[in-house]
Amino acid sequence: MSAILQLPRDPAVSVEGLTKTFPAGDRLLVALHGVSLEVARGEFLCLVGASGSGKSTLLNVLAGLDQPSAGAARVDGRVALMFQEAALLPWLTAAGNVELALELRGVGGAERRRQARELLERVHLAGAGNRRPHELSGGMKQRVALARALALDADVLLMDEPFGALDAITRDLLHEELERIWNGSGLTIVFVTHNAREAVRLGDRVLVFSSRPGRVAHEVEVELPRPRSLDSPELAVVAGRITDRLRAEMGRDGS
Ligand code: ADP
Ligand code: MG
Repeated sequence: MSAILQLPRDPAVSVEGLTKTFPAGDRLLVALHGVSLEVARGEFLCLVGASGSGKSTLLNVLAGLDQPSAGAARVDGRVALMFQEAALLPWLTAAGNVELALELRGVGGAERRRQARELLERVHLAGAGNRRPHELSGGMKQRVALARALALDADVLLMDEPFGALDAITRDLLHEELERIWNGSGLTIVFVTHNAREAVRLGDRVLVFSSRPGRVAHEVEVELPRPRSLDSPELAVVAGRITDRLRAEMGRDGS
């Protein structure tokens, strides 16, 4: 007797033949063309591509903020989004911004305050709960934004160049924090960046997008042990290969 064991194939994110067009005058701009991909539960997937290759469009579709023109995109579970700008409410404190997300989930009163305090501790902001956004550095604001995203208790975290505006040292720290939070949490992360080294620092896998139209041109499994150093020669080699791919893709469409 031979039994064929079917492993459960039950991805957190699946995208199939996704095409997204936008009207551009009397023509159509094809932002994404026939994109198919899957993200496993608990996977950290990075997307790299030149600007205009449809990365944000893909995240918007996954977040349900935009509809596919053709094909399908499915996310299993609750989604949280994080952008380059923290987009905190300026009249609320750091804790207040996190509490608001908890309130939206129906967490009440004292429990909400307790959870907000815990989340701020998780992103190493325990002492800053009473500060307002204008009293926080760029890195601290992104930590609050991360705590707020975690407050949604999402299964899938979509991050659109979240550390793109930070200085190198702050970014390095946030890579560590994000990896620590992700590690063993079961959280699935889709992380967009145009920085190949950042993608290799964080990702289990990196997808390289091409432009005009946006599609997946290349895939790299990152097999370096964690935690990885942004400055290690091993990381530079893998990132170098991705950068070469990006250059080739950019040359291809003449941009
Ligand atoms: P990326 O995030 O990779 O830089 P985007 O997803 O933002 O790329 O954009 C992909 C293409 O789609 C670009 O040419 C952009 O101008 C176009 N685009 C994105 N959103 C819209 C929109 N709402 N309306 C019209 N064109 C759009
Ligand atoms: Mg973008």
